Amino acid sequence: MEKLFLYNTLTRTKELFKPVKKGRVGLYTCGPTVYNFAHLGNLRTYIFEDMLKRVLLYNGYKVKHVMNITDVGHLTGDRDMGEDKLEKGAKREGKTAREIAEFYTEAFRQDIKKLNIFAPDVWCKATDYIKEQIELIKILEKKGYVYKIPDGLYFDTAQLKAYNKLSHLDLATLKEGARVEKNEAKRHLTDFALWKFSPKGVKRQQEWPSPWGVGFPGWHIECSAMSLKQLGDQLDIHCGGIDHINVHHTNEIAQSEAATGQKFFNYWLHGAFLNIAGGKKMAKSEENFLTLENAFTNKGIDPLVFRFACLQTHYRKPMEYGVAAMENAKSGLEHLHRQARQLQIKNYKLRTKDINKNYQEKFVAAINDDLNMPQALAVAQELLKSDLDISEKLATVLDFDKVLGLGLSGIDSAADEVSTEVVGLARDREAARQNKNWPEADRLRAEMEKLGYIVEDTKDGQRVSKK
Ligand code: AMP
Ligand code: ZN
Repeated sequence: MEKLFLYNTLTRTKELFKPVKKGRVGLYTCGPTVYNFAHLGNLRTYIFEDMLKRVLLYNGYKVKHVMNITDVGHLTGDRDMGEDKLEKGAKREGKTAREIAEFYTEAFRQDIKKLNIFAPDVWCKATDYIKEQIELIKILEKKGYVYKIPDGLYFDTAQLKAYNKLSHLDLATLKEGARVEKNEAKRHLTDFALWKFSPKGVKRQQEWPSPWGVGFPGWHIECSAMSLKQLGDQLDIHCGGIDHINVHHTNEIAQSEAATGQKFFNYWLHGAFLNIAGGKKMAKSEENFLTLENAFTNKGIDPLVFRFACLQTHYRKPMEYGVAAMENAKSGLEHLHRQARQLQIKNYKLRTKDINKNYQEKFVAAINDDLNMPQALAVAQELLKSDLDISEKLATVLDFDKVLGLGLSGIDSAADEVSTEVVGLARDREAARQNKNWPEADRLRAEMEKLGYIVEDTKDGQRVSKK
């Protein structure tokens, strides 16, 4: 296997990646809080994580990818104060918290599909793991890390020597955020809720009995309980956006390591923000957010333009969302699609042995250097401009697309395994379309549909996906 270097937030250095088990990777990515649509900022983080997963797969690792769905316990203030986001969403829409969660989970699945993001191998809903979360809190209680105050059960962060090992924050100078109400009963500012009690006289929509009283889990405990359960023996990589470093991921590490006495994940990767003009973070709470639907689909713009734009910026650099930048990305992607299509309508046989080793080495050097996608795109462009033989160019660029996920073969790569037969049919159909041979194009579509695929004609070419 080639050497893969990843920037680890724990050590603030690029490190050589070594998984716990040879050839396998346990990957946990913090998923959405499903009380609203994902905004483009959230989606930028999921695209970065998809890049990481595809790079691991390209390097030959078997990846077990787990993603949580937060459907309870995430409060509007990150330090356990404020309203439950799900209950807030339910009130806003006059629905139940469960209906809200189901609706926005499905919307999220559709969004990631449109962006060619591979779905995780395991989806975990916080409300399906209440028992595991309670068990974990019991262990922490037995070990003496827990104290009870009127609104809930809290983790005593002062008991850990290295509570700040991920954030590198100077705890002595930390101040309570101005926007959130202060919880006077907490022993230390950084202490966080493990279990919150339902307020007296209030019947919450989502609440469960526990040894400490009726209530609901704190936001952080779900990720610890679910990742330990799903990936306990391969805690390799844990990801999220940079806003998770100081609170959410710091608290996950604190409670998990306190409970197990073992290191909780070896590599922590964080994606930088998508900002709006002026450098302000795109956020659900700011009401400044754009969704994939209102910024792309509804305007007839291919959502993959957003994916392409994200690839053009390194994941650790802030990215600014702007109409001009998206216009540029749109022409960049269209150009790439056109070039790939030109190669395909020449109808050369696609043979993996035609992959050009020289370009592949350059590509691997870029992606394995902490996912340098801007460089990887430059290698793809250089390849397409080169005077290599057409079948070599095609085989190589389609090989790169396993990582880029830009739909260069005209096949939706987020679909499961697409058989070579279907790739061939899609290519023939593309040629028929180019030659305006509509009966032949229809015949080929029917053949693909018989094999279980949906064929859609977009103005950027055909999209083929599994039914
Ligand atoms: P949430 O649904 O709020 O829990 O966020 C889901 C993911 O999106 C988390 O990994 C966040 O760190 C990330 N995220 C939130 N806002 C942004 C942003 N403006 N740019 C990039 N990532 C973000
Ligand atoms: Zn999480």
